[in-house]
Amino acid sequence: MSLTSQENLQHLRAYVDYLRDLGIYDLYRRENPETFLPETVREAFAASAKRMVAAPQTAAKPPAQPEARTVPRSAPPVSPPSVTQRAPMAASGTRPQEPVRPAPPQPPAATYFDSEPAPLPPELAAPMPKPVSFDQLAPLPTQIIPAAERVAALEAIRADIGDCTRCPLAYGGRHKIVFADGDPNARLMFVGEGPGADEDASGLPFVGKAGQLLNNMIRAMGLQREEVYIANIVKCRPPGNRTPEPIEANTCSPFLLRQIDIVRPQVIVALGGTAATYLLGVKQSLSSLRGRWYSTRGAKVAVTYHPAFLLRDPRQKGEAWKDLQMVMVELGLKPAAKA
Ligand code: SF4
Repeated sequence: MSLTSQENLQHLRAYVDYLRDLGIYDLYRRENPETFLPETVREAFAASAKRMVAAPQTAAKPPAQPEARTVPRSAPPVSPPSVTQRAPMAASGTRPQEPVRPAPPQPPAATYFDSEPAPLPPELAAPMPKPVSFDQLAPLPTQIIPAAERVAALEAIRADIGDCTRCPLAYGGRHKIVFADGDPNARLMFVGEGPGADEDASGLPFVGKAGQLLNNMIRAMGLQREEVYIANIVKCRPPGNRTPEPIEANTCSPFLLRQIDIVRPQVIVALGGTAATYLLGVKQSLSSLRGRWYSTRGAKVAVTYHPAFLLRDPRQKGEAWKDLQMVMVELGLKPAAKA
Protein backbone atom coordinates (compact mmCIF):
# COMPACT_ATOMS: atom_id res chain seq x y z
CA MET A 1 0.00 0.00 0.00
CA SER A 2 1.51 3.32 -1.01
CA LEU A 3 0.93 6.30 1.25
CA THR A 4 -0.13 9.72 0.10
CA SER A 5 2.18 12.65 0.77
CA GLN A 6 -0.31 13.86 3.40
CA GLU A 7 -0.14 10.50 5.17
CA ASN A 8 3.64 10.58 4.94
CA LEU A 9 3.64 14.01 6.56
CA GLN A 10 1.35 12.78 9.32
CA HIS A 11 3.70 9.87 9.97
CA LEU A 12 6.70 12.20 10.02
CA ARG A 13 4.89 14.52 12.39
CA ALA A 14 3.97 11.61 14.67
CA TYR A 15 7.58 10.54 14.73
CA VAL A 16 8.79 14.02 15.61
CA ASP A 17 6.20 14.10 18.42
CA TYR A 18 7.48 10.74 19.57
CA LEU A 19 11.07 12.01 19.68
CA ARG A 20 9.89 15.01 21.64
CA ASP A 21 8.14 12.70 24.10
CA LEU A 22 11.59 11.24 24.67
CA GLY A 23 13.05 14.67 25.30
CA ILE A 24 14.96 14.84 22.00
CA TYR A 25 14.64 18.29 20.47
CA ASP A 26 17.87 18.90 18.61
CA LEU A 27 18.24 15.72 16.65
CA TYR A 28 19.28 17.59 13.53
CA ARG A 29 21.75 19.95 15.09
CA ARG A 30 24.43 17.57 16.25
CA GLU A 31 26.93 16.59 13.61
CA ASN A 32 28.07 13.33 15.17
CA PRO A 33 25.25 10.75 15.12
CA GLU A 34 27.04 8.84 17.88
CA THR A 35 26.58 11.71 20.31
CA PHE A 36 23.31 13.39 19.39
CA LEU A 37 21.43 11.63 22.19
CA PRO A 38 21.92 12.80 25.75
CA GLU A 39 24.00 10.41 27.84
CA THR A 40 21.10 9.47 30.08
CA VAL A 41 18.86 8.66 27.11
CA ARG A 42 21.54 6.52 25.52
CA GLU A 43 21.95 4.62 28.77
CA ALA A 44 18.19 4.11 29.03
CA PHE A 45 18.05 2.81 25.45
CA ALA A 46 21.03 0.55 25.98
CA ALA A 47 19.37 -0.96 29.07
CA SER A 48 16.19 -1.57 27.06
CA ALA A 49 18.14 -3.18 24.25
CA LYS A 50 19.85 -5.51 26.74
CA ARG A 51 16.49 -6.60 28.12
CA MET A 52 15.32 -7.29 24.57
CA VAL A 53 18.32 -9.51 23.88
CA ALA A 54 17.92 -11.33 27.19
CA ALA A 55 14.18 -11.93 26.68
CA PRO A 56 13.08 -15.52 25.79
CA GLN A 57 12.53 -16.24 22.12
CA THR A 58 8.74 -16.56 22.55
CA ALA A 59 8.38 -13.14 21.00
CA ALA A 60 9.73 -14.39 17.67
CA LYS A 61 7.52 -13.60 14.71
CA PRO A 62 5.22 -16.48 13.71
CA PRO A 63 5.78 -17.41 10.09
CA ALA A 64 2.17 -16.90 8.98
CA GLN A 65 1.77 -13.45 10.50
CA PRO A 66 2.19 -10.29 8.48
CA GLU A 67 5.42 -8.42 8.90
CA ALA A 68 5.55 -6.53 12.17
CA ARG A 69 6.08 -2.77 11.97
CA THR A 70 7.49 -0.38 14.47
CA VAL A 71 4.67 2.01 15.32
CA PRO A 72 5.41 5.32 17.02
CA ARG A 73 3.64 5.69 20.35
CA SER A 74 1.64 8.63 19.19
CA ALA A 75 0.15 6.71 16.24
CA PRO A 76 -3.59 6.14 16.62
CA PRO A 77 -4.56 2.70 17.95
CA VAL A 78 -5.66 0.15 15.38
CA SER A 79 -9.30 -0.80 15.75
CA PRO A 80 -10.15 -4.49 15.56
CA PRO A 81 -11.64 -5.38 12.20
CA SER A 82 -15.41 -5.54 12.03
CA VAL A 83 -17.29 -8.69 11.05
CA THR A 84 -17.56 -8.57 7.30
CA GLN A 85 -18.14 -12.20 6.27
CA ARG A 86 -21.01 -14.42 7.17
CA ALA A 87 -21.52 -18.11 6.47
CA PRO A 88 -24.27 -19.01 4.00
CA MET A 89 -27.67 -19.68 5.54
CA ALA A 90 -28.37 -23.24 6.49
CA ALA A 91 -31.32 -25.13 5.01
CA SER A 92 -34.73 -23.60 5.75
CA GLY A 93 -36.03 -24.34 9.24
CA THR A 94 -32.67 -25.01 10.72
CA ARG A 95 -30.74 -22.73 12.90
CA PRO A 96 -28.39 -20.45 10.93
CA GLN A 97 -24.77 -21.25 11.27
CA GLU A 98 -22.55 -19.08 13.39
CA PRO A 99 -21.03 -16.24 11.35
CA VAL A 100 -17.48 -16.83 10.29
CA ARG A 101 -15.38 -14.31 12.15
CA PRO A 102 -11.96 -13.34 10.94
CA ALA A 103 -9.13 -14.45 13.17
CA PRO A 104 -8.45 -11.94 15.95
CA PRO A 105 -5.43 -9.77 15.24
CA GLN A 106 -2.24 -11.19 16.62
CA PRO A 107 0.05 -8.92 18.60
CA PRO A 108 2.99 -7.90 16.46
CA ALA A 109 6.35 -9.42 17.19
CA ALA A 110 8.33 -7.56 19.81
CA THR A 111 10.23 -4.60 18.47
CA TYR A 112 12.81 -2.32 19.93
CA PHE A 113 10.17 0.17 21.04
CA ASP A 114 7.94 -2.46 22.70
CA SER A 115 10.35 -2.86 25.55
CA GLU A 116 9.73 -0.51 28.41
CA PRO A 117 12.64 1.92 28.67
CA ALA A 118 13.87 3.10 32.01
CA PRO A 119 12.09 6.32 33.07
CA LEU A 120 13.74 9.46 31.78
CA PRO A 121 15.04 12.08 34.18
CA PRO A 122 12.44 14.84 34.68
CA GLU A 123 14.47 17.46 32.82
CA LEU A 124 14.61 15.25 29.71
CA ALA A 125 10.97 14.23 29.87
CA ALA A 126 9.84 17.87 29.99
CA PRO A 127 7.34 18.69 27.24
CA MET A 128 9.12 21.90 26.15
CA PRO A 129 12.87 22.44 26.11
CA LYS A 130 14.15 25.49 27.90
CA PRO A 131 14.82 28.09 25.21
CA VAL A 132 18.47 28.82 24.56
CA SER A 133 19.49 32.36 23.64
CA PHE A 134 21.64 33.12 20.62
CA ASP A 135 24.38 34.22 23.00
CA GLN A 136 24.36 30.77 24.60
CA LEU A 137 24.49 29.00 21.23
CA ALA A 138 27.96 30.16 20.27
CA PRO A 139 30.66 32.52 21.54
CA LEU A 140 30.77 35.95 19.98
CA PRO A 141 33.16 36.10 17.02
CA THR A 142 36.44 37.77 17.79
CA GLN A 143 36.70 39.37 14.36
CA ILE A 144 34.32 41.73 12.59
CA ILE A 145 33.84 40.96 8.90
CA PRO A 146 34.90 44.05 6.89
CA ALA A 147 31.99 45.80 5.18
CA ALA A 148 33.34 45.01 1.72
CA GLU A 149 33.35 41.27 2.46
CA ARG A 150 29.91 40.90 3.98
CA VAL A 151 28.04 40.14 0.76
CA ALA A 152 30.38 37.27 0.00
CA ALA A 153 30.22 36.03 3.60
CA LEU A 154 26.42 35.98 3.51
CA GLU A 155 26.48 34.21 0.16
CA ALA A 156 28.68 31.55 1.74
CA ILE A 157 26.01 30.92 4.40
CA ARG A 158 23.36 30.68 1.69
CA ALA A 159 25.56 28.16 -0.10
CA ASP A 160 25.90 26.17 3.15
CA ILE A 161 22.12 26.02 3.46
CA GLY A 162 21.82 24.70 -0.08
CA ASP A 163 18.62 22.78 -0.74
CA CYS A 164 18.32 22.22 2.99
CA THR A 165 16.61 19.15 4.45
CA ARG A 166 17.95 19.52 7.99
CA CYS A 167 14.56 19.90 9.65
CA PRO A 168 10.98 18.73 9.00
CA LEU A 169 10.03 22.02 7.33
CA ALA A 170 11.87 20.79 4.24
CA TYR A 171 9.01 18.29 3.82
CA GLY A 172 6.12 20.62 4.68
CA GLY A 173 5.45 21.83 1.16
CA ARG A 174 7.95 24.69 0.98
CA HIS A 175 8.74 26.11 -2.43
CA LYS A 176 11.64 28.46 -1.73
CA ILE A 177 14.09 28.89 1.11
CA VAL A 178 13.72 32.48 2.31
CA PHE A 179 17.20 33.62 3.28
CA ALA A 180 17.02 37.37 3.98
CA ASP A 181 16.69 40.76 2.34
CA GLY A 182 18.34 44.13 2.75
CA ASP A 183 21.63 45.84 3.46
CA PRO A 184 24.47 43.59 4.70
CA ASN A 185 25.86 46.66 6.51
CA ALA A 186 22.58 47.70 8.10
CA ARG A 187 22.51 49.27 11.57
CA LEU A 188 18.99 47.94 12.09
CA MET A 189 17.81 44.35 11.65
CA PHE A 190 14.27 43.00 11.84
CA VAL A 191 13.77 39.35 12.75
CA GLY A 192 10.42 37.67 12.22
CA GLU A 193 9.13 34.16 12.77
CA GLY A 194 9.04 32.43 9.39
CA PRO A 195 7.93 32.85 5.78
CA GLY A 196 4.29 32.91 4.78
CA ALA A 197 2.73 31.96 1.46
CA ASP A 198 3.88 35.10 -0.43
CA GLU A 199 7.40 34.80 0.93
CA ASP A 200 7.50 31.08 0.12
CA ALA A 201 6.55 31.89 -3.47
CA SER A 202 8.96 34.81 -3.92
CA GLY A 203 11.92 33.70 -1.80
CA LEU A 204 11.99 37.09 0.00
CA PRO A 205 10.96 37.84 3.59
CA PHE A 206 8.02 40.12 4.43
CA VAL A 207 6.60 40.73 0.96
CA GLY A 208 2.91 39.97 1.63
CA LYS A 209 0.43 42.17 3.46
CA ALA A 210 2.44 41.93 6.68
CA GLY A 211 5.50 42.91 4.67
CA GLN A 212 3.74 46.01 3.32
CA LEU A 213 2.91 47.03 6.86
CA LEU A 214 6.54 46.44 7.90
CA ASN A 215 7.64 48.64 4.97
CA ASN A 216 5.32 51.39 6.26
CA MET A 217 6.76 51.00 9.77
CA ILE A 218 10.31 51.29 8.39
CA ARG A 219 9.39 54.39 6.37
CA ALA A 220 7.76 55.96 9.42
CA MET A 221 11.12 55.55 11.18
CA GLY A 222 12.75 57.67 8.46
CA LEU A 223 14.38 54.71 6.68
CA GLN A 224 13.89 52.75 3.49
CA ARG A 225 13.52 48.97 3.39
CA GLU A 226 16.81 48.73 1.48
CA GLU A 227 18.62 50.30 4.44
CA VAL A 228 17.69 47.59 6.97
CA TYR A 229 18.29 43.83 7.05
CA ILE A 230 15.29 41.48 7.35
CA ALA A 231 15.31 37.77 8.20
CA ASN A 232 13.34 35.12 10.05
CA ILE A 233 13.98 32.49 12.71
CA VAL A 234 13.18 29.71 10.21
CA LYS A 235 13.82 29.96 6.50
CA CYS A 236 11.11 27.61 5.26
CA ARG A 237 7.37 28.15 5.49
CA PRO A 238 5.71 26.13 8.26
CA PRO A 239 2.63 24.34 6.84
CA GLY A 240 -0.49 26.43 7.34
CA ASN A 241 1.65 29.27 8.75
CA ARG A 242 1.79 27.53 12.10
CA THR A 243 4.39 28.49 14.69
CA PRO A 244 7.72 26.71 14.06
CA GLU A 245 8.31 23.76 16.33
CA PRO A 246 11.31 23.96 18.67
CA ILE A 247 13.14 21.29 16.67
CA GLU A 248 12.67 23.40 13.52
CA ALA A 249 13.63 26.74 15.09
CA ASN A 250 16.60 25.24 16.92
CA THR A 251 17.84 23.57 13.75
CA CYS A 252 17.53 26.65 11.56
CA SER A 253 18.50 29.44 13.96
CA PRO A 254 22.30 28.85 13.73
CA PHE A 255 22.10 30.20 10.16
CA LEU A 256 20.47 33.38 11.44
CA LEU A 257 23.06 33.60 14.17
CA ARG A 258 25.81 33.57 11.56
CA GLN A 259 23.98 36.23 9.53
CA ILE A 260 23.76 38.47 12.59
CA ASP A 261 27.45 37.97 13.32
CA ILE A 262 28.28 39.13 9.79
CA VAL A 263 25.89 42.08 9.54
CA ARG A 264 26.63 43.19 13.13
CA PRO A 265 23.57 45.44 13.45
CA GLN A 266 23.46 47.99 16.22
CA VAL A 267 19.83 47.18 16.99
CA ILE A 268 17.67 44.12 16.33
CA VAL A 269 13.88 44.36 16.49
CA ALA A 270 12.27 41.03 17.35
CA LEU A 271 8.93 40.91 15.58
CA GLY A 272 6.62 38.78 17.71
CA GLY A 273 6.98 36.25 20.47
CA THR A 274 8.70 33.50 18.48
CA ALA A 275 11.55 35.76 17.39
CA ALA A 276 11.97 37.03 20.97
CA THR A 277 11.90 33.50 22.40
CA TYR A 278 14.73 32.19 20.25
CA LEU A 279 16.86 35.35 20.08
CA LEU A 280 16.76 35.92 23.83
CA GLY A 281 16.16 32.43 25.20
CA VAL A 282 13.09 33.49 27.16
CA LYS A 283 9.52 32.23 27.06
CA GLN A 284 7.30 35.06 28.21
CA SER A 285 4.28 36.93 26.96
CA LEU A 286 5.06 39.57 24.38
CA SER A 287 3.48 42.31 26.48
CA SER A 288 5.85 41.51 29.35
CA LEU A 289 8.88 41.67 27.01
CA ARG A 290 8.08 45.01 25.33
CA GLY A 291 9.40 48.39 26.39
CA ARG A 292 12.86 47.24 27.56
CA TRP A 293 16.24 46.66 26.00
CA TYR A 294 17.85 43.24 25.76
CA SER A 295 21.03 42.18 24.03
CA THR A 296 22.18 39.40 21.76
CA ARG A 297 25.29 38.92 19.61
CA GLY A 298 26.52 42.36 20.64
CA ALA A 299 23.36 44.12 19.44
CA LYS A 300 20.65 45.80 21.48
CA VAL A 301 17.30 44.04 21.07
CA ALA A 302 13.82 45.53 21.24
CA VAL A 303 10.65 43.43 21.12
CA THR A 304 7.44 44.46 19.41
CA TYR A 305 4.37 43.01 17.75
CA HIS A 306 4.63 41.04 14.53
CA PRO A 307 3.08 42.98 11.62
CA ALA A 308 0.74 40.05 10.93
CA PHE A 309 -0.63 40.45 14.46
CA LEU A 310 -1.05 44.19 13.90
CA LEU A 311 -3.09 43.44 10.78
CA ARG A 312 -5.40 41.30 12.91
CA ASP A 313 -5.53 43.82 15.76
CA PRO A 314 -4.80 47.34 14.41
CA ARG A 315 -5.53 48.81 17.86
CA GLN A 316 -2.03 47.72 18.89
CA LYS A 317 -0.32 49.81 16.17
CA GLY A 318 0.11 52.67 18.62
CA GLU A 319 1.91 50.37 21.06
CA ALA A 320 4.17 49.09 18.27
CA TRP A 321 4.97 52.68 17.31
CA LYS A 322 6.11 53.32 20.91
CA ASP A 323 8.53 50.39 20.57
CA LEU A 324 9.86 51.74 17.28
CA GLN A 325 10.28 55.21 18.76
CA MET A 326 12.50 53.66 21.42
CA VAL A 327 14.62 52.21 18.61
CA MET A 328 14.69 55.53 16.75
CA VAL A 329 16.07 57.31 19.83
CA GLU A 330 18.79 54.67 20.09
CA LEU A 331 19.75 55.05 16.42
CA GLY A 332 19.27 58.83 16.29
CA LEU A 333 16.54 58.56 13.64
CA LYS A 334 13.96 61.24 12.94
CA PRO A 335 10.43 60.22 11.95
CA ALA A 336 9.56 60.65 8.31
CA ALA A 337 7.75 63.86 7.43
CA LYS A 338 4.08 63.26 6.69
CA ALA A 339 3.30 63.40 2.99
S1 SF4 B 1 13.75 25.74 8.03
FE1 SF4 B 1 15.99 25.99 8.00
S2 SF4 B 1 16.83 24.05 8.83
FE2 SF4 B 1 14.68 23.68 8.24
S3 SF4 B 1 14.80 22.89 6.15
FE3 SF4 B 1 14.48 25.11 6.00
S4 SF4 B 1 16.53 26.01 5.84
FE4 SF4 B 1 16.77 23.89 6.58
